[in-house]
Parts: sequence; C-alpha cells; structure tokens
Amino acid sequence: MNDGPKHTILTIDDEDANLMVLNHILFEKYDIYMAKTGQVALKLAREKKPDLILLDIILPDITGFEVLEKLQSDPETNKIPVICITGLDSENDEEKGFLLGAVDYIKKPFKNTIVKIRVNTHIKILQQMRIIERYGLTDPLTDIANRRNFDERIDMEWRRAIREKKPVSFLMIDIDKFKHYNDTYGHPQGDTLLKTVAKIFVAIARRPADLPARLGGEEFGILLPSTGAEAAFLVAESIRAAVESLRVPTADRSEMTTVTVSIGVATALPAKNDLVKDFISRADKNLYIAKKTGKNRVCVDVADA
Ligand code: GH3
Ligand code: MG
Ligand code: MG
Repeated sequence: MNDGPKHTILTIDDEDANLMVLNHILFEKYDIYMAKTGQVALKLAREKKPDLILLDIILPDITGFEVLEKLQSDPETNKIPVICITGLDSENDEEKGFLLGAVDYIKKPFKNTIVKIRVNTHIKILQQMRIIERYGLTDPLTDIANRRNFDERIDMEWRRAIREKKPVSFLMIDIDKFKHYNDTYGHPQGDTLLKTVAKIFVAIARRPADLPARLGGEEFGILLPSTGAEAAFLVAESIRAAVESLRVPTADRSEMTTVTVSIGVATALPAKNDLVKDFISRADKNLYIAKKTGKNRVCVDVADA
C-alpha cells in the first residue's frame, strides 16, 4: 500500500506557525500544499485535487465553514475528505463542521500524534474506498471492465449513438474449446490464458472509448462506439489472428500450445425505439454461427458486411 506516489494533503491555516507544525508532522509521509486564505485554498483544491484537506475555521477572508460549503457544492472537490482543525471550542462549531460534510474535527491546541493518527486513518479509509470502487467495475482476474461496468457503458453508448446518429459495434468473443484447455493444462493455467487474451483485446481495441469487458467465464465483449461494420470486422479479425498466433505455455511450461477464439459481430445505427438487447442478441447469434461453422472465425450480419 505504500507503493506509488505519496498521497497529497492541503493544509489551510492563516498562521504560518500552524502551517509549519502541520508540515513538520506530515511531510515525511505526504506531499503537502499550504494555503493561508480561503480563496487560495479553493483554488488549490480545484487545481491539485488533494487526497485530504485540513481546514482551519478562522481565516482572514472567508470562514472555513464557507470554504467547506464551496468545496462540497463543487463536483470537482466534493469527494475530498475535509478535517476541520480549529481553536473554536464550542460544540456548535463542531456540529456545524460535521453538518457541512467534514469527516472529522480536531481541536487546537492539538497533539502531533493525534493529528498524524487521524490523518493516517482517513487516508486508509480513502484507499479502501478506492479499491472497492475499482473492484465494483473491474474484473479482478483480467483487470478489464466487468459485466456491471459493461452493462452501464453499453446503455450509455447506445443512447449516445441514437442522439448523435453514429454507428456502434459490438464483438462477442468466446474462447474455443476452453473446457478442454482447462482439463488438459489445469485451471490456474486456464486463468493465465484468460489474462493473456484480455491483454490482446486491450492492445487491439485501443481507441479511448473502446471497452473490452469480461462478461463471464471465458466470454468477453468489446464495445466499439462510433465504429461502422467494416472497421468492426477489421478489429475482430485482428483479434482472431492475434490470438491464433499466440503460443501459450502449458501447465508444466514444458511445451507451448495454441488457442483460438470465435467472434460474433453486430453493428447498428440505432433509431429512437431500437433496443440494446436486440443488438446484443445479434452479436450472440453471430457468435453461435461462428461456433457452428468451425470456430476460430469472425461472423457478421450479412446485411452489415
Ligand atoms: P466452445 O469451443 O464451444 O466455446 O467450448 P468451450 O469448452 O470453450 O465452452 P464451454 O462453455 O463448454 O466451457 C467453458 C469452460 O470455461 C468451462 C469452465 O470450466 C471454464 N471457465 C469458466 N470460467 C473460468 C475461469 O474463471 N477460469 C478458468 N480457468 N476456467 C473457466
Ligand atoms: Mg468457449
Ligand atoms: Mg462459453
């Protein structure tokens, strides 16, 4: 968890001495930005997107509460956790900070160790939230989009294609004879193969809006927004050929073997009442035909070809 760049913290306090103390407590573990006024703080928060904010309530221009309100109402900054630090000792202020969305409240004069522990705790919570968010949308084995992510994106892209009158394509991909591969080389080697083919999908479907996803088991989908039938066929054929030319190690790594995929393609220029599920069914049907007619092939709708 300590890998990667340091987390960043924005400290806001009108007194240099306080900023220096906070910096001294935190600089070893975190990258620190400092602000002495509310306006500078808001600007830095938007520009630097710190992971955590330590906010003094008494500031020379606008109050810390106003800073907090502004941070919370801006979609660019409203996910950044804020800890209020202040000498104001009334419970009302503590309550007000929490009501405005602060995650914690530290009273001055503070103990260095308490600040350190509270900050570390909130950074840890943040890391865990990010992991949960990521896993909610990513398939843990292959590290590409999972089914839920895919379902959301295809709905969105379908509506966009209707609005913008642009074509959208979809490839449904299934590994050929995967059960046999698993039975012969072992389940862990099967998992390695799934990871390897997912990497090929990512390498070939590489426009920013392209979305390769694991739909389940050994079945994958690739959504290709703004892509017509001809281009979709080329992507599908590149993938088929790239997988066919792979040499994958067998379970004991003593020999190499090959693997192939079958791909069903659908392309649509959707109109207002067209259903995305019919579009997916067309790719599914073409995948079925690819399997039936010998596998290791790409099948498209005749009308689209
Ligand atoms: P076809 O050529 O017609 O596609 O046949 P197939 O053997 O590939 O397809 P089938 O649907 O009969 O078998 C799919 C296999 O995929 C069975 C299952 O054990 C395996 N499988 C599904 N998910 C995973 C996984 O996460 N890891 C591994 N290693 N295998 C998986
Ligand atoms: Mg299969
Ligand atoms: Mg299957």
